[in-house]
Amino acid sequence: MLDKVVIANRGEIALRVLRACQTLGIRTVAVHSTADRNLKHVGMADESVCIGPAPAAESYLNIPAIIAAAEVTDAQAIHPGYGFLSENADFAERVEQSGFIFIGPTANVIRMMGDKVEAIRAMKAAGVPCVPGSGGPLGEDSAENAKIAREIGYPVIIKAAGGGGGRGMREVRTEAHLANAITLTKSEAKAAFGNAEVYMEKFLENPRHVEIQVLADGQGNAIHLGERDCSMQRRHQKVVEEAPAPGITPEQRAEIGKVCVDACVRIGYRGAGTFEFLYENGRFYFIEMNTRIQVEHPVTEFITGVDLVREQLLIAGGEKLSIRQSDIKITGHAIECRINAEDPDTFMPSPGTVKRFESAGGPGVRIDTHVYDGYRIPPNYDSMIGKLIVHGRDRATAIARMRIALAEMVFEGVKTNLPLQQRIMADGGFNAGGQNIHYLEKRIAEAKEKAIKLS
Ligand code: ADP
Repeated sequence: MLDKVVIANRGEIALRVLRACQTLGIRTVAVHSTADRNLKHVGMADESVCIGPAPAAESYLNIPAIIAAAEVTDAQAIHPGYGFLSENADFAERVEQSGFIFIGPTANVIRMMGDKVEAIRAMKAAGVPCVPGSGGPLGEDSAENAKIAREIGYPVIIKAAGGGGGRGMREVRTEAHLANAITLTKSEAKAAFGNAEVYMEKFLENPRHVEIQVLADGQGNAIHLGERDCSMQRRHQKVVEEAPAPGITPEQRAEIGKVCVDACVRIGYRGAGTFEFLYENGRFYFIEMNTRIQVEHPVTEFITGVDLVREQLLIAGGEKLSIRQSDIKITGHAIECRINAEDPDTFMPSPGTVKRFESAGGPGVRIDTHVYDGYRIPPNYDSMIGKLIVHGRDRATAIARMRIALAEMVFEGVKTNLPLQQRIMADGGFNAGGQNIHYLEKRIAEAKEKAIKLS
């Protein structure tokens, strides 16, 4: 069992990790930037260390500073949360080389999954269904690339091997645009990710985003915890997530879940992870694996009763997975709304002081947020300030609870996307369930047009 953990993150996930450590009696070290001295978990942690100035590059991405914090506090392990260094193989490697435990998979597995071309190759070999594609990086020969695209069939999508966060992708509908799109995506990928390698996939027109949560102990045991539907997206960023995914049958879940579990065992996966798929016409197509805890993990926790962060800590401490596949039962339905400090119409970030924060409550309501009365949201980081997660015996109950909880919550002093979330919960298409990844953007565009006409 671990005795002291450095939480190398901020905001709601740092608080989430801290709470999981506390339930296991593990002592905590909060590391924070100068802009984050007043974060809720910093005050709650057993110890805290300032690791640098506000810009993330100088603090939350500062590898030597984080490792030094672990050294001076005599900690044993480092939890990276999500974002920042969580999927940085060099970080994981340096953590382990410095004698600490990285709470996540091995550096080699992170490196493999961070290179999407490599990841797809490994997943194909493990029997995971993938999107029809180039099966490797695209070369300089435009005739050859055109041939690959013709074989896949238009439309295609050019994607950066090192891409992430929904960036470094370009859809191509005709051969006339192909060569230029490849050149552009390559130079963007080089600038954004330091890796110019790109690959090609069939562009699926109307898929849903369905992902499988896994836990593996790196000692030959792995389980899946069902799926989440994260199709409500704007600019490839998830806005609402839910579990289970509407319309997925227990048989489909068991089948795709088993494929993911087998792949975990095959690659020696350790920790919590997510296999992301596009789902279209009843079929799953692997797009990438996330080798960390995800923002939307609470919906899975609600329907399975498993504390995923606690399991991460136990696995990192060297324990064998104590949960068997047969222990996993899906109960009811859970939905998560991400709460962002942003203008609900323009989506411009809205940092500043939260003068008054009112929470929500009632049966099946969970709020993961670091916000409190008087908390000042710094302008330096992501605009997500919390998550509202609800659980009900069925989807309709969960939606009803979400509507009430959204109406109960108050953030005075900053703009939030609560009104957008309210509109989504009231939307007929969302209530019907099973919408594709373009649905939300289409609805937002329609609402904008209507507002312009009225004004
Ligand atoms: P990232 O690591 O940047 O999140 P992903 O490969 O997970 O990249 O893709 C992010 C999103 O881009 C998907 O959720 C989907 O909306 C879209 N996308 C990716 N690949 C395809 C594809 N082959 N066809 C259609 N949409 C895609």
